[in-house]
Amino acid sequence: APAATVPSPDAAVADAGSDPCCAEPLPVLGRDVTVPLVTGGEVTYAALDYAASAPALQRVWDDVAAYAPYYGSVHRGAGYLSQLSTDLFENSRVTVADFLDCREGDQVVFTRSTTDSLNLLASALPADCRVFVFETEHHASLLPWGDTRVTYLNAPRTHAEAVRTLEQALADRDPSPRSSSWGEPVGPALVCVTGASNVTGELWPVKELAEVAHAHGARIVLDAAQLAPHHAVSVRDLDVDWVAFSGHKLYAPFGSGVLAGRADWLQEAEPYLAGGGASRTVARRADGGVDVEWHTTPARHEAGSPNVIGVYSIASACKALTEAGFENLVAREQHLVDRVREGLAAVPEVKVLSLFGEDAPRVGVISFVVEGWNSSHFAAALSAEYGIGVRDGLFCAHPLVRTLLGSAPQDPGECGAPEARPGEVSLNAIRVSFGAGT
Ligand code: PLP
Repeated sequence: APAATVPSPDAAVADAGSDPCCAEPLPVLGRDVTVPLVTGGEVTYAALDYAASAPALQRVWDDVAAYAPYYGSVHRGAGYLSQLSTDLFENSRVTVADFLDCREGDQVVFTRSTTDSLNLLASALPADCRVFVFETEHHASLLPWGDTRVTYLNAPRTHAEAVRTLEQALADRDPSPRSSSWGEPVGPALVCVTGASNVTGELWPVKELAEVAHAHGARIVLDAAQLAPHHAVSVRDLDVDWVAFSGHKLYAPFGSGVLAGRADWLQEAEPYLAGGGASRTVARRADGGVDVEWHTTPARHEAGSPNVIGVYSIASACKALTEAGFENLVAREQHLVDRVREGLAAVPEVKVLSLFGEDAPRVGVISFVVEGWNSSHFAAALSAEYGIGVRDGLFCAHPLVRTLLGSAPQDPGECGAPEARPGEVSLNAIRVSFGAGT
């Protein structure tokens, strides 16, 4: 295969370190980990797969370590440590609500992840709710709704086209003199949209899409899995009805996530999971069954013993990011985005993937293909020869990557890389992603 010219990572790292424009990165775990190279010796690991899971902030680790000796059961424990833990758990909701700039009456439900949050919302939709989702979404946003109630929207090529596409789709269901439903109220609708793509890193016009959704009586949920780690998210300002994100992409450990927003649909729905914690009273009936009175939200949807450490970690990360100031984090990250773009642009064999144009605003997530290289081999070489950890594959967004590559990858397998075939190129892509710890 033709050799692509890969700039030396050592030089790039040294250069970035000496750049006066940038504040220091936030301390994260694993910064000093060294890894062996196939060419001999070892090198400090370059973690460039933040979009999958970001390293935990040192601050989060310290907060958890300080709390760990004191943790106890939450909610119904009578002991001191249980009360302390319950306070920390419930205060974490307040911290997350502040972080997201929630409105009065909004609720924060703790889940396992963004995937879990969106499945929870899907389980709480009114029976006749239609869902509108762009085909470009991550599978977590694309799939929870069930095929029959979804209208999939084609990939737009500009923000304006995204807004027009949604407007048209929603207008098609509005009552009109020409439609059989003229004068009749149309059923509820939900729009699901990502804030920043996990493939291209490109920002989506969330506020404009929310405006269109609301103008047509629809609601909107923001998949902020890739947005929240990089930009301040204001539920109030964006005017979205719900927002979902994952702790492990927000510099906290795995296993916890958030669904925040309007309470009504969640309150009217059956509990997401049945069990203790979600139930207020349970009593045997004369006919042998049981009567259950369920809690109101958020407890209604948090059955089972919660992930107290995970929730506390999210709250700690929210505080750390707020204190660091998103304006500083964004400035630093945008500088790195520009450097990566420039570096990639200097390699003729590289094609950066983009829906809205290579210069479109994006977070620190950049995917590309290298002419003459199978992406899986390229990513493996970056790891083995340079100690750079990236990701290759279709990134759990198969329809989007197909559109971007302009071809149908064969047998994409799971979210990861398809089987490479000799002589084939660009079946999949390479993704570099970074953030506050880079
Ligand atoms: N949405 C987007 C945009 C993502 O990038 C991801 C994960 O990569 C998810 C949702 C799902 O997140 P999780 O795996 O934490 O549920």
